Amino acid sequence: MDLSFLTEELEALKGKGRYRSLRRVSGPQDAEIVIEGARRLNFSSNNYLGLANHPAVVAALEEHARRYGVGSGASRLICGHMDVHAELEDAVAKLKGTEAALTFSAGYMANLGILSTLAGPDATIFSDELNHASIVDGCRLARARVEVYRHGDVSHLEDLLRQSSAARKIVVTDGVFSMDGDIAPLPGLVEAKDRHGAILVVDDAHATGVLPPHGRGTVDYFDLHGRVEIQMGTFSKALGTYGAYIGASRAMVDYFINKCRPFIFNTGLPPALAGATLAALGLLAKEPALLSSLWRNQAAFREDMAKRGRKASSPTAIVPILVGGDRETMEVSKALFDRGVFVHGIRPPTVPEGTGRLRLTLMATHTREMIGTAAARIDEALKEQGIGPDRIAQA
Ligand SMILES: *Cc1c(COP(=O)(O)O)cnc(C)c1O
Repeated sequence: MDLSFLTEELEALKGKGRYRSLRRVSGPQDAEIVIEGARRLNFSSNNYLGLANHPAVVAALEEHARRYGVGSGASRLICGHMDVHAELEDAVAKLKGTEAALTFSAGYMANLGILSTLAGPDATIFSDELNHASIVDGCRLARARVEVYRHGDVSHLEDLLRQSSAARKIVVTDGVFSMDGDIAPLPGLVEAKDRHGAILVVDDAHATGVLPPHGRGTVDYFDLHGRVEIQMGTFSKALGTYGAYIGASRAMVDYFINKCRPFIFNTGLPPALAGATLAALGLLAKEPALLSSLWRNQAAFREDMAKRGRKASSPTAIVPILVGGDRETMEVSKALFDRGVFVHGIRPPTVPEGTGRLRLTLMATHTREMIGTAAARIDEALKEQGIGPDRIAQA
């Protein structure tokens, strides 16, 4: 068997400045991490509230592992549905203000499941052009027709909905966009989908545990309870654990239990993780200081960048710093790393061509000093690459 295509294609990626490799982290996912053996300020984690290493979440994991063991042993429909899964789903439904909820092994699986279950060959999926890759792959798995609307452009979506004669229409959007940090125009999307009888799916991976006032996601942020058919999200970001969910009507959840292949043919979430996630949800409700620290830190970073004439305009914990070319992006990231700050460079195909960027994320656990240091080092590293203040903007 000739496997030379492996090295040929990898060499081609290297030639384009697009080769990826893993970096090793020693120890937990905190505001400071030891990465590739070096201690660095961490401005690339989705652990927005610091819950991934919170003592109460770790303790809940241990306690549930003692009570339930490690694996759930089977798919949820066979004998892998444990008390703690039911408790977690009740808690998620409460958080989201929905009749019911269903958990999945990961957000990626949930998006594959949602789109392939709701959309078949007679459906059209209307998808924002900057939606997460797992939504794009869900569209592929669904084998439905896909219409991509311009980012956040409700009137473009309306045009496409109006022209469509599909028997079933599904609109899907990130709630907070993962690479740009902007918030989907949900009120407009809800009106548009209502006018055209479409189902709306919102991916709250970066909204749950992040958006004010209570970290309940985009629907709560815009007070659109009861108006969105599926609120999807992950436990792996602000909640600091692993797994994912949908919050929806009882009928929708029952439909998924019966028809959703990435739910049916997948082993249930490990019970200890479900228990840890319950603890994380408890902290989100009981400790509003977590969310307010995150927002204070976002404001502090924007202020520090503004002092240097750089406008960091995204409204959430994700701040894109546009660089442009692939190689340039990685060089700025490397220069920052050498100065003690880890901010991952993001290149195509994760983002559109020519919009390579640093994707900086704030955490509730960053100190004021860490934020000041990061802003100063970012400014220096950008200057070194000849990138002036005009370049920091939304892509
Ligand atoms: C991270 C992410 C996912 C995937 O979630 P996992 O639980 O990591 O598989 C889905 N959608 C968006 C918008 C994400 O950012």
